[in-house]
Amino acid sequence: MTSKKLNQFLNENLEDLKEKGLYNDIDTVEGANGPVIKLDGKELINLSSNNYLGLATDERLKEVAVEAVQSHGVGAGAVRTINGTLDLHIELEKKIAEFKGTEAAISYQSGFNCNMAAISGVMDKNDAILSDELNHASIIDGCRLSRAKIIRFNHSDMNDLRAKAKEAVESGQYNKIMVITDGVFSMDGDVADLPGIVEIAEEFDLITYVDDAHGSGVLGKGAGTVKHFGLQDKVDLQMGTLSKAIGVIGGYVAGNQNLIDWLKVRSRPFLFSTAVTPADVAACTKAIDLLMESTDLQNKMWENSKYLKDGLKKLGFDIGNSETPITPCIIGEEKTTQQFSKRLYEEGVYAKSIVFPTVPRGTGRVRNMPTAAHTKEMLDQALAVYEKIGKEFNII
Ligand code: PMP
Repeated sequence: MTSKKLNQFLNENLEDLKEKGLYNDIDTVEGANGPVIKLDGKELINLSSNNYLGLATDERLKEVAVEAVQSHGVGAGAVRTINGTLDLHIELEKKIAEFKGTEAAISYQSGFNCNMAAISGVMDKNDAILSDELNHASIIDGCRLSRAKIIRFNHSDMNDLRAKAKEAVESGQYNKIMVITDGVFSMDGDVADLPGIVEIAEEFDLITYVDDAHGSGVLGKGAGTVKHFGLQDKVDLQMGTLSKAIGVIGGYVAGNQNLIDWLKVRSRPFLFSTAVTPADVAACTKAIDLLMESTDLQNKMWENSKYLKDGLKKLGFDIGNSETPITPCIIGEEKTTQQFSKRLYEEGVYAKSIVFPTVPRGTGRVRNMPTAAHTKEMLDQALAVYEKIGKEFNII
Protein backbone atom coordinates (compact mmCIF):
# COMPACT_ATOMS: atom_id res chain seq x y z
CA MET A 1 0.00 0.00 0.00
CA THR A 2 1.45 3.40 -0.92
CA SER A 3 -0.81 5.94 0.77
CA LYS A 4 -0.01 6.43 4.47
CA LYS A 5 -3.31 8.26 4.96
CA LEU A 6 -5.33 5.36 3.54
CA ASN A 7 -3.39 2.85 5.59
CA GLN A 8 -4.02 4.81 8.79
CA PHE A 9 -7.72 5.30 7.92
CA LEU A 10 -8.25 1.57 7.30
CA ASN A 11 -6.34 0.41 10.38
CA GLU A 12 -8.14 2.79 12.72
CA ASN A 13 -11.60 2.18 11.36
CA LEU A 14 -11.33 -1.60 11.04
CA GLU A 15 -10.11 -1.79 14.63
CA ASP A 16 -12.96 0.43 15.78
CA LEU A 17 -15.58 -1.75 14.03
CA LYS A 18 -14.06 -4.92 15.49
CA GLU A 19 -14.02 -3.45 19.01
CA LYS A 20 -17.71 -2.55 18.72
CA GLY A 21 -18.58 -6.02 17.43
CA LEU A 22 -19.77 -4.51 14.15
CA TYR A 23 -17.30 -6.30 11.88
CA ASN A 24 -18.92 -9.39 10.39
CA ASP A 25 -16.82 -12.21 9.05
CA ILE A 26 -18.30 -13.40 5.78
CA ASP A 27 -19.44 -17.02 5.62
CA THR A 28 -18.51 -19.09 2.59
CA VAL A 29 -21.06 -21.59 1.34
CA GLU A 30 -19.36 -24.67 -0.09
CA GLY A 31 -21.49 -25.59 -3.11
CA ALA A 32 -25.04 -24.56 -3.98
CA ASN A 33 -27.27 -22.28 -1.89
CA GLY A 34 -30.19 -24.67 -1.36
CA PRO A 35 -32.37 -25.58 1.63
CA VAL A 36 -29.36 -27.33 3.15
CA ILE A 37 -25.95 -25.67 2.84
CA LYS A 38 -22.42 -26.65 3.75
CA LEU A 39 -20.10 -24.34 5.67
CA ASP A 40 -16.68 -25.44 6.94
CA GLY A 41 -17.64 -28.98 5.95
CA LYS A 42 -20.74 -28.82 8.20
CA GLU A 43 -24.24 -29.35 6.81
CA LEU A 44 -26.84 -26.87 8.02
CA ILE A 45 -30.54 -26.29 7.45
CA ASN A 46 -30.56 -22.99 5.60
CA LEU A 47 -33.10 -20.47 6.85
CA SER A 48 -31.32 -17.35 5.59
CA SER A 49 -31.65 -17.25 1.80
CA ASN A 50 -34.10 -15.16 -0.20
CA ASN A 51 -34.54 -18.12 -2.53
CA TYR A 52 -38.28 -18.17 -1.70
CA LEU A 53 -39.32 -20.68 -4.33
CA GLY A 54 -36.17 -22.77 -4.43
CA LEU A 55 -35.53 -21.67 -8.02
CA ALA A 56 -31.84 -20.84 -7.46
CA THR A 57 -31.01 -24.52 -7.86
CA ASP A 58 -33.96 -25.59 -10.06
CA GLU A 59 -33.03 -28.10 -12.79
CA ARG A 60 -35.29 -26.44 -15.39
CA LEU A 61 -33.55 -23.09 -14.93
CA LYS A 62 -30.11 -24.69 -15.02
CA GLU A 63 -31.00 -26.38 -18.29
CA VAL A 64 -32.03 -23.17 -20.11
CA ALA A 65 -28.98 -21.38 -18.67
CA VAL A 66 -26.66 -24.01 -20.14
CA GLU A 67 -28.48 -23.82 -23.48
CA ALA A 68 -28.12 -20.02 -23.49
CA VAL A 69 -24.38 -20.33 -22.89
CA GLN A 70 -24.16 -22.65 -25.90
CA SER A 71 -26.25 -20.42 -28.18
CA HIS A 72 -25.24 -16.94 -26.95
CA GLY A 73 -21.93 -17.34 -25.10
CA VAL A 74 -21.06 -16.29 -21.57
CA GLY A 75 -21.16 -12.49 -21.89
CA ALA A 76 -23.48 -9.91 -23.45
CA GLY A 77 -20.48 -8.09 -24.90
CA ALA A 78 -21.53 -4.47 -24.36
CA VAL A 79 -23.85 -2.10 -22.54
CA ARG A 80 -27.50 -2.31 -23.52
CA THR A 81 -27.44 0.87 -25.61
CA ILE A 82 -24.46 -0.12 -27.77
CA ASN A 83 -25.07 -3.72 -28.84
CA GLY A 84 -25.41 -5.60 -25.55
CA THR A 85 -29.18 -5.91 -25.98
CA LEU A 86 -29.65 -9.54 -27.02
CA ASP A 87 -32.91 -11.11 -28.13
CA LEU A 88 -32.91 -12.80 -24.70
CA HIS A 89 -33.12 -9.41 -22.91
CA ILE A 90 -36.09 -8.33 -25.03
CA GLU A 91 -37.84 -11.64 -24.38
CA LEU A 92 -37.30 -11.25 -20.62
CA GLU A 93 -38.60 -7.67 -20.56
CA LYS A 94 -41.73 -8.62 -22.51
CA LYS A 95 -42.29 -11.47 -20.07
CA ILE A 96 -41.88 -9.19 -17.03
CA ALA A 97 -44.41 -6.72 -18.44
CA GLU A 98 -46.88 -9.53 -19.11
CA PHE A 99 -46.35 -10.95 -15.62
CA LYS A 100 -46.77 -7.55 -13.96
CA GLY A 101 -49.69 -6.43 -16.14
CA THR A 102 -47.94 -3.31 -17.50
CA GLU A 103 -47.25 -1.97 -21.01
CA ALA A 104 -43.49 -2.45 -20.78
CA ALA A 105 -40.50 -3.22 -18.56
CA ILE A 106 -36.77 -2.52 -18.38
CA SER A 107 -34.23 -4.80 -16.73
CA TYR A 108 -30.99 -4.02 -14.91
CA GLN A 109 -27.97 -5.89 -13.55
CA SER A 110 -29.32 -6.02 -9.97
CA GLY A 111 -32.16 -4.81 -7.82
CA PHE A 112 -29.80 -2.45 -6.03
CA ASN A 113 -28.59 -0.82 -9.19
CA CYS A 114 -32.15 -0.73 -10.53
CA ASN A 115 -33.23 1.48 -7.61
CA MET A 116 -30.21 3.73 -8.13
CA ALA A 117 -31.00 3.90 -11.84
CA ALA A 118 -34.74 4.36 -11.81
CA ILE A 119 -35.11 6.81 -8.91
CA SER A 120 -32.37 9.07 -10.20
CA GLY A 121 -33.63 8.56 -13.76
CA VAL A 122 -37.02 10.03 -12.92
CA MET A 123 -36.32 12.52 -10.11
CA ASP A 124 -33.95 15.48 -9.92
CA LYS A 125 -32.92 18.38 -7.71
CA ASN A 126 -36.15 20.28 -8.31
CA ASP A 127 -38.23 17.41 -6.93
CA ALA A 128 -39.11 15.85 -3.55
CA ILE A 129 -39.39 12.21 -2.50
CA LEU A 130 -41.57 11.00 0.38
CA SER A 131 -39.83 7.84 1.61
CA ASP A 132 -40.95 5.34 4.28
CA GLU A 133 -38.42 5.44 7.13
CA LEU A 134 -37.85 1.66 6.86
CA ASN A 135 -37.14 1.60 3.12
CA HIS A 136 -34.26 -0.51 1.85
CA ALA A 137 -30.71 0.89 1.58
CA SER A 138 -30.85 0.86 -2.23
CA ILE A 139 -33.90 3.14 -2.16
CA ILE A 140 -32.12 5.49 0.22
CA ASP A 141 -29.06 5.59 -2.05
CA GLY A 142 -31.20 6.05 -5.17
CA CYS A 143 -32.99 8.97 -3.53
CA ARG A 144 -29.67 10.56 -2.53
CA LEU A 145 -28.28 10.14 -6.02
CA SER A 146 -31.28 11.91 -7.53
CA ARG A 147 -30.51 15.06 -5.45
CA ALA A 148 -34.23 15.47 -4.79
CA LYS A 149 -35.31 16.66 -1.33
CA ILE A 150 -35.84 13.52 0.79
CA ILE A 151 -38.77 13.66 3.22
CA ARG A 152 -39.03 10.59 5.45
CA PHE A 153 -42.44 9.56 6.75
CA ASN A 154 -43.08 7.33 9.76
CA HIS A 155 -43.28 3.66 8.88
CA SER A 156 -46.58 2.87 7.13
CA ASP A 157 -48.17 5.88 8.86
CA MET A 158 -50.73 7.27 6.42
CA ASN A 159 -51.54 10.29 8.58
CA ASP A 160 -47.90 11.30 8.58
CA LEU A 161 -47.59 10.67 4.84
CA ARG A 162 -50.70 12.76 4.10
CA ALA A 163 -49.50 15.64 6.28
CA LYS A 164 -46.04 15.64 4.66
CA ALA A 165 -47.45 15.32 1.13
CA LYS A 166 -49.77 18.27 1.80
CA GLU A 167 -46.95 20.37 3.19
CA ALA A 168 -44.68 19.55 0.25
CA VAL A 169 -47.37 20.39 -2.32
CA GLU A 170 -48.43 23.60 -0.55
CA SER A 171 -44.84 24.81 -0.25
CA GLY A 172 -44.82 25.16 -4.05
CA GLN A 173 -41.08 24.38 -3.94
CA TYR A 174 -41.08 21.18 -5.92
CA ASN A 175 -41.63 20.29 -9.52
CA LYS A 176 -42.53 16.60 -9.10
CA ILE A 177 -43.19 14.69 -5.86
CA MET A 178 -42.79 10.92 -5.49
CA VAL A 179 -43.88 8.54 -2.75
CA ILE A 180 -41.67 5.49 -2.48
CA THR A 181 -42.07 2.34 -0.39
CA ASP A 182 -41.02 -1.26 -0.07
CA GLY A 183 -43.96 -3.53 -0.96
CA VAL A 184 -42.90 -5.98 1.75
CA PHE A 185 -40.51 -4.80 4.48
CA SER A 186 -37.58 -7.17 4.65
CA MET A 187 -36.86 -7.13 8.39
CA ASP A 188 -40.41 -7.57 9.74
CA GLY A 189 -42.26 -9.12 6.79
CA ASP A 190 -45.11 -6.58 6.98
CA VAL A 191 -46.87 -5.41 3.80
CA ALA A 192 -47.06 -1.72 2.84
CA ASP A 193 -50.46 -0.03 2.97
CA LEU A 194 -50.59 0.41 -0.80
CA PRO A 195 -54.32 1.27 -0.96
CA GLY A 196 -53.65 4.08 1.56
CA ILE A 197 -50.58 5.28 -0.34
CA VAL A 198 -52.39 5.25 -3.69
CA GLU A 199 -55.29 7.23 -2.24
CA ILE A 200 -52.92 9.92 -0.97
CA ALA A 201 -50.99 9.85 -4.25
CA GLU A 202 -54.21 10.49 -6.18
CA GLU A 203 -55.16 13.33 -3.85
CA PHE A 204 -51.82 15.12 -4.29
CA ASP A 205 -50.75 13.88 -7.76
CA LEU A 206 -47.72 12.00 -6.43
CA ILE A 207 -45.63 9.61 -8.50
CA THR A 208 -45.91 6.13 -6.93
CA TYR A 209 -42.89 3.80 -6.72
CA VAL A 210 -43.07 0.35 -5.11
CA ASP A 211 -39.94 -1.75 -4.50
CA ASP A 212 -41.35 -5.24 -4.53
CA ALA A 213 -38.13 -7.20 -4.00
CA HIS A 214 -39.79 -9.34 -1.30
CA GLY A 215 -43.34 -9.29 -2.68
CA SER A 216 -42.72 -10.53 -6.22
CA GLY A 217 -43.11 -14.27 -6.52
CA VAL A 218 -44.69 -14.24 -3.08
CA LEU A 219 -47.89 -12.15 -3.10
CA GLY A 220 -50.56 -11.58 -5.76
CA LYS A 221 -50.21 -15.09 -7.22
CA GLY A 222 -46.55 -14.28 -7.72
CA ALA A 223 -47.08 -10.99 -9.56
CA GLY A 224 -46.40 -9.04 -6.37
CA THR A 225 -47.84 -6.65 -3.83
CA VAL A 226 -49.37 -4.27 -6.39
CA LYS A 227 -51.37 -7.10 -7.98
CA HIS A 228 -52.22 -8.42 -4.49
CA PHE A 229 -54.13 -5.16 -3.91
CA GLY A 230 -55.39 -4.95 -7.53
CA LEU A 231 -53.60 -1.63 -8.06
CA GLN A 232 -51.76 -2.32 -11.35
CA ASP A 233 -53.21 0.82 -12.95
CA LYS A 234 -52.44 3.02 -9.95
CA VAL A 235 -48.71 2.48 -9.39
CA ASP A 236 -46.32 4.26 -11.75
CA LEU A 237 -43.14 2.27 -11.12
CA GLN A 238 -43.26 -1.36 -10.04
CA MET A 239 -39.67 -2.22 -9.22
CA GLY A 240 -38.55 -5.77 -8.49
CA THR A 241 -35.56 -8.04 -8.24
CA LEU A 242 -34.77 -11.21 -10.15
CA SER A 243 -32.51 -12.46 -7.36
CA LYS A 244 -34.97 -13.54 -4.68
CA ALA A 245 -38.12 -15.51 -5.64
CA ILE A 246 -36.93 -15.63 -9.27
CA GLY A 247 -33.70 -17.17 -7.99
CA VAL A 248 -31.16 -15.64 -10.40
CA ILE A 249 -29.84 -12.05 -10.62
CA GLY A 250 -31.08 -8.69 -11.91
CA GLY A 251 -33.65 -6.02 -11.26
CA TYR A 252 -36.45 -4.40 -13.23
CA VAL A 253 -39.01 -1.66 -13.46
CA ALA A 254 -42.41 -2.37 -14.99
CA GLY A 255 -44.62 0.54 -16.02
CA ASN A 256 -46.05 2.36 -19.01
CA GLN A 257 -44.26 2.61 -22.36
CA ASN A 258 -43.27 6.27 -21.98
CA LEU A 259 -41.68 5.62 -18.59
CA ILE A 260 -39.68 2.66 -19.92
CA ASP A 261 -38.64 4.59 -23.06
CA TRP A 262 -37.41 7.40 -20.80
CA LEU A 263 -35.47 5.06 -18.50
CA LYS A 264 -33.79 3.50 -21.54
CA VAL A 265 -32.20 6.85 -22.39
CA ARG A 266 -31.82 8.32 -18.92
CA SER A 267 -30.88 5.61 -16.41
CA ARG A 268 -27.13 5.43 -16.15
CA PRO A 269 -26.48 1.74 -15.32
CA PHE A 270 -28.50 0.86 -18.45
CA LEU A 271 -26.31 3.19 -20.50
CA PHE A 272 -22.92 2.63 -18.91
CA SER A 273 -22.74 -0.87 -17.39
CA THR A 274 -22.56 -4.10 -19.40
CA ALA A 275 -25.78 -6.05 -19.86
CA VAL A 276 -26.61 -9.17 -17.82
CA THR A 277 -25.21 -12.47 -19.13
CA PRO A 278 -27.25 -14.69 -21.50
CA ALA A 279 -27.43 -17.58 -19.02
CA ASP A 280 -28.89 -15.40 -16.27
CA VAL A 281 -31.41 -13.73 -18.56
CA ALA A 282 -32.62 -17.05 -20.00
CA ALA A 283 -32.97 -18.51 -16.50
CA CYS A 284 -35.02 -15.47 -15.35
CA THR A 285 -37.39 -15.81 -18.30
CA LYS A 286 -37.85 -19.50 -17.54
CA ALA A 287 -38.54 -18.74 -13.88
CA ILE A 288 -41.29 -16.26 -14.79
CA ASP A 289 -42.75 -18.80 -17.24
CA LEU A 290 -42.93 -21.30 -14.40
CA LEU A 291 -44.62 -18.79 -12.10
CA MET A 292 -47.19 -17.92 -14.76
CA GLU A 293 -47.93 -21.59 -15.46
CA SER A 294 -48.55 -22.75 -11.91
CA THR A 295 -48.79 -21.61 -8.31
CA ASP A 296 -47.52 -24.93 -6.95
CA LEU A 297 -44.21 -23.52 -5.73
CA GLN A 298 -45.89 -20.54 -4.06
CA ASN A 299 -48.41 -22.81 -2.37
CA LYS A 300 -45.59 -24.95 -1.03
CA MET A 301 -43.73 -21.87 0.22
CA TRP A 302 -46.83 -20.55 2.03
CA GLU A 303 -47.49 -23.99 3.51
CA ASN A 304 -43.89 -24.20 4.78
CA SER A 305 -43.93 -20.69 6.14
CA LYS A 306 -47.18 -21.32 8.03
CA TYR A 307 -45.71 -24.53 9.42
CA LEU A 308 -42.55 -22.81 10.68
CA LYS A 309 -44.43 -19.81 12.06
CA ASP A 310 -47.00 -21.94 13.86
CA GLY A 311 -44.22 -24.13 15.26
CA LEU A 312 -42.19 -21.18 16.59
CA LYS A 313 -45.30 -19.52 18.05
CA LYS A 314 -46.35 -22.73 19.73
CA LEU A 315 -42.91 -22.98 21.31
CA GLY A 316 -43.47 -19.50 22.76
CA PHE A 317 -41.25 -17.35 20.55
CA ASP A 318 -42.15 -13.78 19.62
CA ILE A 319 -42.31 -13.77 15.81
CA GLY A 320 -43.63 -10.23 15.37
CA ASN A 321 -46.40 -9.34 12.92
CA SER A 322 -45.11 -10.71 9.65
CA GLU A 323 -47.71 -11.20 6.91
CA THR A 324 -45.28 -12.96 4.56
CA PRO A 325 -42.82 -15.89 4.73
CA ILE A 326 -40.21 -13.60 6.35
CA THR A 327 -40.21 -14.92 9.93
CA PRO A 328 -38.33 -12.88 12.51
CA CYS A 329 -37.73 -14.55 15.83
CA ILE A 330 -37.30 -11.57 18.12
CA ILE A 331 -34.71 -12.08 20.85
CA GLY A 332 -34.06 -8.46 21.96
CA GLU A 333 -30.61 -7.53 23.20
CA GLU A 334 -27.89 -7.44 20.52
CA LYS A 335 -25.24 -9.71 22.05
CA THR A 336 -27.82 -12.30 23.16
CA THR A 337 -29.28 -12.34 19.63
CA GLN A 338 -25.85 -12.98 18.15
CA GLN A 339 -25.13 -15.73 20.68
CA PHE A 340 -28.52 -17.30 19.98
CA SER A 341 -27.77 -17.44 16.25
CA LYS A 342 -24.33 -18.90 16.97
CA ARG A 343 -25.88 -21.68 19.08
CA LEU A 344 -28.37 -22.43 16.28
CA TYR A 345 -25.40 -22.78 13.96
CA GLU A 346 -23.61 -25.16 16.30
CA GLU A 347 -26.75 -27.30 16.40
CA GLY A 348 -27.11 -27.36 12.59
CA VAL A 349 -29.40 -24.41 11.74
CA TYR A 350 -28.21 -21.45 9.70
CA ALA A 351 -30.35 -18.42 10.61
CA LYS A 352 -28.57 -15.07 10.73
CA SER A 353 -28.97 -12.56 13.50
CA ILE A 354 -30.04 -9.03 12.56
CA VAL A 355 -29.29 -6.30 15.07
CA PHE A 356 -28.91 -2.54 15.44
CA PRO A 357 -28.36 -0.49 13.25
CA THR A 358 -30.27 -2.65 10.70
CA VAL A 359 -33.19 -2.85 13.17
CA PRO A 360 -33.91 -0.60 16.19
CA ARG A 361 -31.86 -1.18 19.38
CA GLY A 362 -33.27 -3.89 21.63
CA THR A 363 -35.20 -5.59 18.82
CA GLY A 364 -32.44 -7.96 17.68
CA ARG A 365 -33.84 -10.92 15.86
CA VAL A 366 -32.92 -14.10 14.09
CA ARG A 367 -34.55 -13.91 10.68
CA ASN A 368 -35.91 -17.09 9.13
CA MET A 369 -36.76 -17.42 5.46
CA PRO A 370 -38.70 -20.63 4.84
CA THR A 371 -38.83 -21.60 1.15
CA ALA A 372 -40.67 -23.98 -1.16
CA ALA A 373 -37.54 -26.15 -1.19
CA HIS A 374 -37.62 -27.05 2.50
CA THR A 375 -39.14 -30.37 3.53
CA LYS A 376 -41.28 -30.88 6.64
CA GLU A 377 -38.43 -32.96 8.09
CA MET A 378 -36.01 -30.05 7.71
CA LEU A 379 -38.45 -27.67 9.39
CA ASP A 380 -39.12 -30.15 12.22
CA GLN A 381 -35.40 -30.49 12.74
CA ALA A 382 -35.02 -26.70 12.84
CA LEU A 383 -37.92 -26.37 15.31
CA ALA A 384 -36.37 -28.98 17.60
CA VAL A 385 -33.13 -26.97 17.62
CA TYR A 386 -35.08 -23.75 18.32
CA GLU A 387 -36.78 -25.45 21.26
CA LYS A 388 -33.47 -26.62 22.69
CA ILE A 389 -31.73 -23.25 22.34
CA GLY A 390 -34.81 -21.27 23.42
CA LYS A 391 -34.87 -23.21 26.70
CA GLU A 392 -31.12 -22.87 27.10
CA PHE A 393 -31.50 -19.05 26.85
CA ASN A 394 -34.61 -19.00 29.07
CA ILE A 395 -36.57 -17.32 26.28
CA ILE A 396 -39.34 -19.90 26.14
N1 PMP B 1 -34.78 -3.76 -2.47
C1 PMP B 1 -35.03 -4.52 -1.38
C2 PMP B 1 -36.24 -4.22 -0.54
C3 PMP B 1 -34.17 -5.58 -1.04
O1 PMP B 1 -34.41 -6.32 0.05
C4 PMP B 1 -33.05 -5.83 -1.86
C5 PMP B 1 -32.10 -7.00 -1.59
N2 PMP B 1 -31.52 -7.05 -0.38
C6 PMP B 1 -32.83 -5.02 -2.98
C7 PMP B 1 -33.72 -4.01 -3.25
C8 PMP B 1 -31.65 -5.24 -3.85
O2 PMP B 1 -31.87 -6.31 -4.72
P1 PMP B 1 -30.66 -7.14 -5.33
O3 PMP B 1 -30.18 -8.07 -4.27
O4 PMP B 1 -31.26 -7.83 -6.51
O5 PMP B 1 -29.62 -6.16 -5.73
